Amino acid sequence: MTSRYLPHGAFFRDLTQAVDGYFDETKKTRQATAAMWFKTAFILSWFVGSWAVLVFAASTWWQALLAAVSLGLAMAGIGFNIQHDGGHRATSDAQGWNKAMALTLDVLGGSSYIWHWKHNVQHHTTPNVVGHDSDIDIEPFVRLSPDQAWRPAHRYQHLYTWFLYALLAMKWHFVDDFKDVITGRIGKRAFPRPRGADLVAFIGGKAFFFTWAFVIPLFFHPVWQVLLGYVVTSVVVSLALGLTFQAAHCVEGAAFPSGEGEREWAVHQVMTSIDFAPGHPFWTWYLGGLNYQLEHHLFPRVCHVHYPALAPLVRAVCEKHGVKYQVMPSVPFALASHGRWLAQMGRAPEAAAVAAAA
Ligand SMILES: [Zn+2]
Repeated sequence: MTSRYLPHGAFFRDLTQAVDGYFDETKKTRQATAAMWFKTAFILSWFVGSWAVLVFAASTWWQALLAAVSLGLAMAGIGFNIQHDGGHRATSDAQGWNKAMALTLDVLGGSSYIWHWKHNVQHHTTPNVVGHDSDIDIEPFVRLSPDQAWRPAHRYQHLYTWFLYALLAMKWHFVDDFKDVITGRIGKRAFPRPRGADLVAFIGGKAFFFTWAFVIPLFFHPVWQVLLGYVVTSVVVSLALGLTFQAAHCVEGAAFPSGEGEREWAVHQVMTSIDFAPGHPFWTWYLGGLNYQLEHHLFPRVCHVHYPALAPLVRAVCEKHGVKYQVMPSVPFALASHGRWLAQMGRAPEAAAVAAAA
């Protein structure tokens, strides 16, 4: 734990006791259940099936469009459900399985090595802290925190930011990972460049991705069709991933703390994460429990299939300690709240201060 936080206190102790008690009583492990392994197999088959239909079977434009959208949703599904848990070492007690699940990101064209530093180290340790959490760094184009500099163009960010989110995967595939390795920095923070087996996985993953995404399809289709299929698929992946993460951290009510040593780690996690659509059967299944973002941030080493059962326990501890537990009722509500947050952050700071005082 960094010195950014006060030592763990009674709040964290009670949270841990409640969650330990749940697993003791139910005799469940914290890792993947049979349903989780079935889901893993299902989503991986969905991914391979969509790709095969897109490359080998689709013969009309609308068949190709449907297959590309399906492929994009399956890829995002792998990210939400399989790679994310594996990357957090929450899938299994056996580190080999966690590693294998984490490597699904390399299959999708991202680097699991860089993701570890960006997500586990930067984002999870210091969510919503400017200069530390690169997930909120879309500067200078988008202002997501009051601590970021305001620019006049931000007045329109609630209109244009959605289009930027659509480019996320393309930027990842062609720019970010390569740039990060070359510069040795993710966002504003340095990280150790991949070496040895990590470097092999980085290069091998990129080669594998470019082979299935471009080289094999080019044997069967003209260049423009392959590029168009890639763009449609990437836009779907990007919007699914980008909006899910923003809907849980960059919404009205989420905090963007800047001071150090003012609160304990667990309080910071709860202040900066907001659940949405709890109990919704489809979103809870598809989003890999990321609609239970608050529980995820408190217990990232617990497989996401357990979050719905943990949520009421976490909520009760928050209420006991007077820590605000926030939840939004639905996906449309969360997206609208993100839009309002963009608009709020896009106002000139003087205008925002006047509006707040009125
Ligand atoms: Zn996470």
